[in-house]
Amino acid sequence: MDKKEFKQQFKKRLAEKFAMEVKDASATELYQTLGSIMTAHYSQDWRQTWQDYRDQQQKQAYYFSIEFLPGKMLKSNLLNMGWLEMIEEALQEMGISLDELAEVEPDMALGNGGLGRLASCFMDSIASCGLPGNGNGIRYEYGLFKQRFVDGYQVELPDEWLQKGNIWEIRKESKAVDVHFGGNVYLQEDANGLLKPVYENGYTVRAVPYDTGMVGYQNNIVNTMRLWSVEIPAEEEDRYRSIEDRRMIEDLTSVLYPDDSNEAGRKLRLSQEYFFVSAGVQSILRYYKQLGFSYDQINQYIAIHINDTHPAMCVAEFMRLLVDEEGLPWEKAWNLTVKVMSYTNHTIMAEALEKWSIPMMKEVCPRIYQIIEEIDRRFVNEMTGVQPADLVERTRIIQHGQIHMAHLAIIGSHSTNGVAKLHSDLLKSVVLHDFYVLYPTRFNNKTNGIAQRRWSQLANRSMTKVLNDTIGNSWNSDPKDIRLLLNYVEDDQVLDALADAKHENKVKLAEYIKRVKGIEVSPEAIFDVQIKRLHAYKRQLLNLLHIVKLYFDLKENPNLPIHPRVFIFGAKAAPSYHYAKSVIKAINEAANLINNDKSINDKLKIVFLENYNVTLAERIIPAADVSEQISLASKEASGTSNMKLMLNGAVTVATLDGANIEIRDAVGDENIAIFGLTETEVYRYYQEHNYNSAELYHNDPVIHKVLNAFVDGTIPNIAVEGQEILDSLIKYNDEFFVLRDFAAYCDAQESINEAYQDRRRWKQISLLNIANAGRFSSDETVKRYAEDIWQIEPVFAHNSERGANQHGAYLL
Ligand SMILES: *Cc1c(COP(=O)(O)O)cnc(C)c1O
Repeated sequence: MDKKEFKQQFKKRLAEKFAMEVKDASATELYQTLGSIMTAHYSQDWRQTWQDYRDQQQKQAYYFSIEFLPGKMLKSNLLNMGWLEMIEEALQEMGISLDELAEVEPDMALGNGGLGRLASCFMDSIASCGLPGNGNGIRYEYGLFKQRFVDGYQVELPDEWLQKGNIWEIRKESKAVDVHFGGNVYLQEDANGLLKPVYENGYTVRAVPYDTGMVGYQNNIVNTMRLWSVEIPAEEEDRYRSIEDRRMIEDLTSVLYPDDSNEAGRKLRLSQEYFFVSAGVQSILRYYKQLGFSYDQINQYIAIHINDTHPAMCVAEFMRLLVDEEGLPWEKAWNLTVKVMSYTNHTIMAEALEKWSIPMMKEVCPRIYQIIEEIDRRFVNEMTGVQPADLVERTRIIQHGQIHMAHLAIIGSHSTNGVAKLHSDLLKSVVLHDFYVLYPTRFNNKTNGIAQRRWSQLANRSMTKVLNDTIGNSWNSDPKDIRLLLNYVEDDQVLDALADAKHENKVKLAEYIKRVKGIEVSPEAIFDVQIKRLHAYKRQLLNLLHIVKLYFDLKENPNLPIHPRVFIFGAKAAPSYHYAKSVIKAINEAANLINNDKSINDKLKIVFLENYNVTLAERIIPAADVSEQISLASKEASGTSNMKLMLNGAVTVATLDGANIEIRDAVGDENIAIFGLTETEVYRYYQEHNYNSAELYHNDPVIHKVLNAFVDGTIPNIAVEGQEILDSLIKYNDEFFVLRDFAAYCDAQESINEAYQDRRRWKQISLLNIANAGRFSSDETVKRYAEDIWQIEPVFAHNSERGANQHGAYLL
């Protein structure tokens, strides 16, 4: 399609849809018109992709994730369709700004943070690499809450993202399936002497899929993200007459649990998990049956991926369908299940490892409970006498009345991977060591990655232009080629052009900050960014303590040679996470104090932007000079904002945690500021029980002074929160070693301050970060999943007007 054709179609479509002309239409109407042209265009490719997979009998992977965090899709789809510039110009010629249309699209936030965003980065890369892979999740009526600050406190508002409809999804009523909950189940011999389950007193809901096209990057491939929504089956209408009854059903896909890294031990959450697991697995098996192969080979056609433990019931549901519905013998079904399933572990934090009580599981899905019991019984049988009894007790699925979902996922799959080298090593040596002894070959690492086209070409147009002008545009399709930039590390013109691009982005962010917060910040200052969920282990508090220290230093000596800095935060706290909310309040009050203190000459500013989400990330990241990745070593499994910021030329201040280690390996020690305890040192403290934070508080005058500011009124309006924070650090012995790492962190920050003032050197460091970011493309990550875990092959683009295999080299 060219500009002229597009403009004609656009006007025609607008007239058909809304009976309007461009000059009368609202941004939403124009957005919906554009969207309908786009979906109409790629839906042919979508159907063709699906047919190709089926006709070529491609093995397909299904990525089960309780969260997806796609953000906005308009520009991303335009980019991947190869239409971005053409549409931007065509709209402009009609007097329409693409940016204004993009504004009205709701940010699709069906996830909390890193886990959901990873799933969406994978969806983009899987399609872009021509891999046959699809998403499977939940279509929550309300996404992650919207965050506002009132008097410095977080307030949560509902995210009614579907209010104006969702132009990207298609409701597929014909693909609905029924999901059964509750009641009793017992086994009865059927006519052939096989034991079959009989269900009593349960209830059935309908799962209706909404499919969204996952458009590959300029390769005519469109995969599917299938999100399930609950409905009351027409034939059951009579049963659910009361409002309470209907509410109970509708709640199933109503809200996303807003807790990041915390087990949600609630019945509704377990029901959500079974709902999308059962619907997804049923629809996969229905498709497989259409192919007409025997079940013996199902592992040659289907791979199911369990993203964290939330979909771990896939193991039991797959067994249920093969054994109960298809009549396969248990042993045979089990061998197939293990070959089909694979599992990613995302955390070592005990509070996030899911466990469900037996009574609750029995109540929600009694047959699944029976199957898990049988899997557990056979596991114990098989291992007893072969492995030490205590090892078997520690690894079995059901222990002390609880079902351990990670155990189910590991025992029921052929692959368990961690998400960064350090994390995968810790799984083997500590967290899942017992399982590693049982199944050493199942364990592997797949370091996370990011959809680099979104986080560079879309989010950072000014940097993209410099890169395209400098190294050509092969990196647009193959992110590894961004390495070509290494040739320019001594080229002042390129260094300056990149610095100018950064400056332009900082000016834009400064304008945004002025507009939404009313705070003046100078683009000449260092923009120092920490954006991620608010969590004690991520240590936003460490950042704040350092800021307070700098503030005191400046009060004492206003001529201190520090380069002006703007500390930018973005973070939501789980509504029930009291401590995290106190940290938010403390940061906001410190901001009030510092931003309004004229005596420090604007050398320090704190900006806490509300409602951190993908869209806000896309605003902040291109403007960042410094990336804060300061979790306690061993606690952040990988991190991905570290990768996004690196790609955008920010310099990382980091502990040796998660993927930070691999970032250091990529850029070299001189181009990153590493500080703090190592994972080994942290574990040594755990073993020797000899950390004493109170000692640091009493003996270190700097720490003493900074902490007192939280309780003596220096930071105003935090009498309660300040005490809570102080107690966490002193009375409860500082679980995340904030005080232990404080001095080292201040030194690392001082090294950043000095480095920034050697402008040429800083520009070089920034360039080296960009140039070495290619290895963190999720294209590379999903290719490794495809080869090592799923055993799926890339397909070539089918024939189309664009020409077949135009990007064949890339697809290979
Ligand atoms: C990338 C991203 C995250 C993950 O950030 P981490 O620092 O890796 O925890 C969370 N939320 C959003 C909106 C993101 O884009």
